[in-house]
Amino acid sequence: MAQAQRDFKSANQDLHTPRQIFNATGELVIGQERARRVMAVAVYNHYKRLSHNSGGGYKDVEIEKSNVLLLGPTGTGKTHMTRAIARLLDVPFVQIDATALTEAGYVGEDVESIAVKLLAEADNNKDRAERGIVYIDEIDKIARKSQENVSITRDVSGEGVQQGLLKMIEGTVCSLPQKTPHALKQEVDTRNVLFICGGAFSGIESIVARRLSTGGPAMGFARPGAAAVNDNDSSKENLYAQVLPEDLLKFGMIPEFVGRLPMITSTDYLTTETMVKIMTEPKDALTRQFDILFGMEGVKLKFEPGALSAIADQAFERGTGARGLRSIVEAMLLDTMFDLPELAQDGVAGVIVTEDMARGKTKLPEYLRIQP
Ligand code: ADP
Repeated sequence: MAQAQRDFKSANQDLHTPRQIFNATGELVIGQERARRVMAVAVYNHYKRLSHNSGGGYKDVEIEKSNVLLLGPTGTGKTHMTRAIARLLDVPFVQIDATALTEAGYVGEDVESIAVKLLAEADNNKDRAERGIVYIDEIDKIARKSQENVSITRDVSGEGVQQGLLKMIEGTVCSLPQKTPHALKQEVDTRNVLFICGGAFSGIESIVARRLSTGGPAMGFARPGAAAVNDNDSSKENLYAQVLPEDLLKFGMIPEFVGRLPMITSTDYLTTETMVKIMTEPKDALTRQFDILFGMEGVKLKFEPGALSAIADQAFERGTGARGLRSIVEAMLLDTMFDLPELAQDGVAGVIVTEDMARGKTKLPEYLRIQP
C-alpha cells in the first residue's frame, strides 16, 4: 500500500464513505437520488482533501476544493439534504441567503457574519468552525441581468456580489469584531469550508430547452403549473438535470463563479406520490410529528390515505414543493388541536383525518371514543 493511502486509511477510520452518506441521507430525504449521490461524493472528497492537505503523501500537490452547485425547484429538499449531511458528519452547518448579500451590497460584512455563525455552531471551536459546511441559498438571485433571463427584475449589480462571494468561497481569512478593545483577536479561515450553493434558477429550463432544440425557440415548453406531473412525465425534471455551465452563464452567472462550482447537480420536481411519502416515511415525517403531539394527550392521530393525497394535491398546487405541506396540515388540524385537551378528557382516544375533511367537504375529523 502506498504511504499516502496508508496515512489516509489510518487517519480516517471514521470517515463515512459516499455510499454510507448516500444511504444515511435517504432516511431523511425521499428520492433525489442523483443529487444525493453527487453530494455524497463531494462531501467525501472534501474531507479527504482536508486530510491530504494537512499531511499525507504528495505534499507538493495541493488538492483544490470542489464546491457544489445544487439546482432545483423550490421546496424539493436541497437545504434539507445539506443539513442532513452536516449532521451526519457532525460538522457545523450554516445557512445563509444570497439575497441578503445583495441588499447589503457589501459582501465583506456578510463574510464576517458567516464566520460568526460558524463559530457559534462550532461552540467557539475555531478548528471545527473552519471545517464546516455553508449552504448559500438563492444563489440564482445574484445573477447578472441579461436578456436571456427576463425573470430577474431587480436592478442590482449581481456581478459585484458574485465577485465578493467568490473570494469567500475560495477561502479568505475573516477577522471577527472584537467585543472589547483588549479581547483576543479572533479569525476564521474559510479555505477549508465546503460551500454548497443552491437555487431554483427559475427560467433556466427554457435556456436548456432552447439549447437542446439546437438553437430554435423552446416550443411547447412550459413550467409545470397546477396540473399534476405524473411519474412518467420526466421531461421537466430532465431539463434541470441537463444544465451545463454554459446555461448558467446565459442565466447570468459570471464565468469565474461557475468555474468555482465544478460539481453541478439538481433535485427533481416532487410528484404528489413523493409528497405523500415525504409526509409519512422519513424519521421526522410530518404525520409522525403530529402523532407525537397528539400522543402527549393520549390521543392517536391517523390520516386516511385519501386525505394524504388530498394534502399533497393542495401542496402541489401551491408550487412550493414540500414546503407547503406543514402549513396545510397545521391549518387543517387547528380546531382539533384547540379542543384536544377537552376531547381527550371527554374520552376521545383517536382522531382520523378523513379524505372528506382534507378536501374541505367536512370541517371536523372523525373521533374515536373509548367504549364505556
Ligand atoms: P429547498 O429545495 O427549497 O432548499 P427545503 O430543503 O428547504 O427545500 O425543503 C423544505 C422542507 O420540505 C424541508 O424542511 C423538508 O421537510 C421537506 N422536504 C422537501 N423535499 C424533501 C424530500 N425530498 N424528502 C423529504 N423531505 C423533503
